[in-house]
Amino acid sequence: MMRSVKPSRASASTPIQAEHRAPPASPYNRSVPHVIEPASSARAKCRSCDQPIAKGELRFGERQPNAFGEGEMTLWFHLPCAAYSRPEPFLETQAAAAGEDLEPLAAAARFGIEHRRVPRLHGAERATSGRAHCRSCRELIAKGDWRLSLVFFEDYRFSPGGYVHAVCARDYFETIELFERIRHFSPALSEHDIEQIAAAMSAGRRTP
Ligand SMILES: [Zn+2]
Ligand SMILES: [Zn+2]
Repeated sequence: MMRSVKPSRASASTPIQAEHRAPPASPYNRSVPHVIEPASSARAKCRSCDQPIAKGELRFGERQPNAFGEGEMTLWFHLPCAAYSRPEPFLETQAAAAGEDLEPLAAAARFGIEHRRVPRLHGAERATSGRAHCRSCRELIAKGDWRLSLVFFEDYRFSPGGYVHAVCARDYFETIELFERIRHFSPALSEHDIEQIAAAMSAGRRTP
């Protein structure tokens, strides 16, 4: 899978763990901190994009209380997927990853915190039917129109959260600086597609 930001492989095999000088902001007491570490196998899939994480590739592990019993479980992510989709826990952890240049991803995570709806963005596509309503303007999205897909993170997973017209992007996200994320989550889009989406996003909604 093509990713717009390619983090370097880890130089050391020791996991990099976040140190918490202040109590974590999470509403539960976490005994094991989130982690950034090289993947020890290729078995884990990324929670955000659902693609496998290659062995040796740096991955982000978000600790959550175990939904199925005692203790904790770890949700694994590609680093860019974590920065885009889980900005708060990613930022909490990346600062401790000394020696890795994670600043571009940290900037992406901060952008997602400053624009609170941006982490919901999960790619772009042409509407495959004319049945979905735009979550911004509430009108139907015509078949074939460019739309941006949304996901919501709840109960430890991402659920499909509907769509917004590409022309409604500025109203909904309060920014149209979204191309890195769109390319990341929709790697099959051509440059021509991206140009069309860009044109729709900057044109905005026509006022009747
Ligand atoms: Zn991913
Ligand atoms: Zn709309």
